[in-house]
Amino acid sequence: MQLSQRLTGINGGGSDGWDVFLKARRMIAAGTPVTELTIGEHDIRTAAPILQEMHARALAGNTGYAAIPGAEPLREAVAARVAARTGVPTTPDNVLITPGGQSALFSAHIAACDAGDTALYIDPYYATYPGTLRAAGAVPQVITTRAADAFQPRAADIDAHATGARSLLINSPNNPTGVVYSRATMEGIAEVCRQRDLWLISDEVYDTQVWEGDHLSPRSLPGMAERTLVVGSLSKSHAMTGSRCGWLVGPEEVIGNLINLATNTTYGVPGFIQDAGLFALNQGADFEAEIAEPFRRRRALAHEVLAAQNTVALVPAQGAMYLMLDVRATGMSGEDFAYSLLDAHHIAVMPGESFGSAAAGHIRVAMTVADDAFETSLRQLCAHAETLAA
Ligand code: PMP
Repeated sequence: MQLSQRLTGINGGGSDGWDVFLKARRMIAAGTPVTELTIGEHDIRTAAPILQEMHARALAGNTGYAAIPGAEPLREAVAARVAARTGVPTTPDNVLITPGGQSALFSAHIAACDAGDTALYIDPYYATYPGTLRAAGAVPQVITTRAADAFQPRAADIDAHATGARSLLINSPNNPTGVVYSRATMEGIAEVCRQRDLWLISDEVYDTQVWEGDHLSPRSLPGMAERTLVVGSLSKSHAMTGSRCGWLVGPEEVIGNLINLATNTTYGVPGFIQDAGLFALNQGADFEAEIAEPFRRRRALAHEVLAAQNTVALVPAQGAMYLMLDVRATGMSGEDFAYSLLDAHHIAVMPGESFGSAAAGHIRVAMTVADDAFETSLRQLCAHAETLAA
């Protein structure tokens, strides 16, 4: 039987960029230890008190169908959080609880784009973006940033692709680069969105991982609350990746209509997960800082290691759990470098090319192993690059 084009076309053909990762997993399965600096997942698990709450709430009977837009107390807590971060009045009617940020990304594009509409996104990008846009029926159009701009998008580049587009997807703090968009970048983006009547879909799942400066949500900029859809999640901020609890925040009309989409697709998020999510949010800012702390620490370690050599260059970045390293001095592509590092030192990193064309000649390092292993791997990585460059 023939499968739909919508389904078979999701990945858009070509390599999906996970080859180095899969090779590392095969090596591990065959008994070779590999240090994995690949996946955006904490090296700690969800905190026990959150799991105890989940357990207690399930045992207490919250195992039936949950309210589809989300449980009211959780919607209220998310609304309060987003209002505090953006200064924009936000009510539970502006909030849809989703099975993770990924579902919110999909829902946002369904809200913004009809089948065949152009949806803009920024390269380098989080690996699922083009597939998510295609799954929602949109036609992805990439806006390429430059290493020389530290991968901050230029408003003029967005504007050059805006004709006929319906939406723009941005992500700050950014995966894979770690870059936090400056106020000037955000203001430029907002200006293009207002001028060109674009929906702005702002993926802010790393908003608790900012090491320098501040995260600015573009929803707070003039005239933007009515056209911005904010994607959030407990995955990164609360080490709850497997719980699948996130949200979309936007105008009431958008959320009201997206409840129909949720009714006909996910049917909501399990009630006991939402209870645990609310409990997690109520742990407050100190808990979130504690979850983020290992990445802050490892980033400082990385600065020390990288300062002692000049072959591998660090992309100046202010947030998230990743480092983007420029390995062009070795004369290699990011992918070739990643393979040679895996073969020679059993260290797995993601080639920059896995995230589009803008980060070619770079590698992404996830700071997701214990400090000592992280530091040792980074030293080996730099030494490897120096040998190749010599
Ligand atoms: N956006 C970005 C930029 C991500 O890196 C991720 C996860 N790696 C997500 C969204 C989705 O996260 P989740 O669905 O777990 O909330």
